[in-house]
Amino acid sequence: MKRHFVTALFCCSLLSACQPNKAENTPIIAEQNPSNTVVSFEDAYSGLSGNTIIEHAKILASDDFGGRLPATEGEVKTLAYLTEQFTQAGLVPTEGDSFLQPVELISITASPNATLSIGQQNFNYKENMVVGSQREQAQIDITDSEVVFVGYGVNAPEYNWNDYEGLDVTGKTVIILVNDPGFENPDAGVFEGKTMTYYGRWSYKYEEASRQGAAAAIIVHETEPASYGWSVVANSWSGPQYGLVNPDKGASRVAIEGWISIEAARAVFAEAGKDFTNEKAKALQGPYHSALALTASASVQNTFETSMSYNFIATLPGSELPDEHIIFTAHWDHLGTDTSLEGDQIYNGFHDNATGTAGLITIAQQLGTLTERPKRSMTFLIVTAEEQGLLGSKYYANNPVVALDKTVANINVDAMNILGQTKDVAVVGQGKSELEQYLVAAATKQGRVVVQEPRPEAGYYYRSDHFSFAKAGVPALYAYGGATPLNDEVAAYRKKMNVIQRGCYHQVCDQYRDSINPAGMEEDARMLMDVAIQVANAEIWPQWSETSEFQRK
Ligand SMILES: [Zn+2]
Repeated sequence: MKRHFVTALFCCSLLSACQPNKAENTPIIAEQNPSNTVVSFEDAYSGLSGNTIIEHAKILASDDFGGRLPATEGEVKTLAYLTEQFTQAGLVPTEGDSFLQPVELISITASPNATLSIGQQNFNYKENMVVGSQREQAQIDITDSEVVFVGYGVNAPEYNWNDYEGLDVTGKTVIILVNDPGFENPDAGVFEGKTMTYYGRWSYKYEEASRQGAAAAIIVHETEPASYGWSVVANSWSGPQYGLVNPDKGASRVAIEGWISIEAARAVFAEAGKDFTNEKAKALQGPYHSALALTASASVQNTFETSMSYNFIATLPGSELPDEHIIFTAHWDHLGTDTSLEGDQIYNGFHDNATGTAGLITIAQQLGTLTERPKRSMTFLIVTAEEQGLLGSKYYANNPVVALDKTVANINVDAMNILGQTKDVAVVGQGKSELEQYLVAAATKQGRVVVQEPRPEAGYYYRSDHFSFAKAGVPALYAYGGATPLNDEVAAYRKKMNVIQRGCYHQVCDQYRDSINPAGMEEDARMLMDVAIQVANAEIWPQWSETSEFQRK
């Protein structure tokens, strides 16, 4: 009786016309609450524990999972763990009887004896250059290809900027600056100032060079505009590189893609009789390219194999509108194990992204206890191969299990806040959609304010799985505890933890530590669950802002 009473109340408060009988047909999944006590959202909210997040994350980031590389034993263990946890939480497969969506990956491994020379300079793999190829060919060579500096390598009609204007780069090697011209010139009114646009992303640079017909595209690494150091490039680019299986076998891509260090770039420009700093300054003034009167040669030997990996997807069916879904995303994968390393060889990926995966397990567990289910369905999509270019979420967006026009919103969780409680909440890509209104409400409830992400120049909106939804037109939110600690005690902890974690992004030292305080993860997970519940029960769907580069398709 109590249950029916509460159902009716719930329904009356949300719908203009009350239909209490409808609740009789509400799908009830597993019986999570045998004692028949009413579990309200507030109970589920205050019961969500940061310690639970830590416990799940500790397991996923244990050495036993080997760093969770796609298509390894670590994946088998991860998927088994997710299946067990989401089943126990009372969730069901989103479609059919399996939680798994197969994603066929191709892994291309360049032999470490890959070479790149520009002019008289011969570079060393991982030390000052990385090269690879997305073409499914065993041997890829370019020989004496003319070198052209193409500035930022951007062709953006809406910003009236085309570095390739009047230039034919067919068969040539293009050298490209990282980020977009707004980064160094934030007040010049070009692009979005410090905020990185998609034109600043390395993935865009190769896509555009491929469209232009170049043979090779080499990006100059600079720590500030890239937002990460050379070691991140060296580590991410060596070992197997994954892509989605492509019908054209990569023929539409440039033959060689890679990076050189800033020191290597300076040497190249000097040999061509130019100064890198001067050339960069010209590239900042407006669309720019200049021939370097040097040639480049490169050689890559690829071995490749296809493999099957999986996205995990589970749903808590909605009580009123089960066909409409709010989709949480997190990536389960990380970088695996590198047996060539001395000492620790396992990229445990505790922060990135065992915490996010664990956060979603914990949110699902709490939602599963609710006496009254949210009006719309809550779906948890835990994707593969994020680290290799958002591949799992990209595949999902191309092959959605829930139709995109039934997907109300996406909320992404990638690397939760392990630095303790904060006074603020950083929203990545501020101002893009109405989801922020719900975020503000949830943050305000916790006494927090919503602020812009600390480094909009880092392009984080394009660097995790929500971007795949945004590109497909689904409003997507990525937000987490900000940079202002709650009090002096948290500030001291934050300072200490920052020192410990420094330099651990995509390194073997991103691992579980007893000293990690779960309070920041707890408040963020509660907040995101709150946002999801508000969207699930709202009368209307959230929309993109008019000024956003993304819109519903
Ligand atoms: Zn991540």
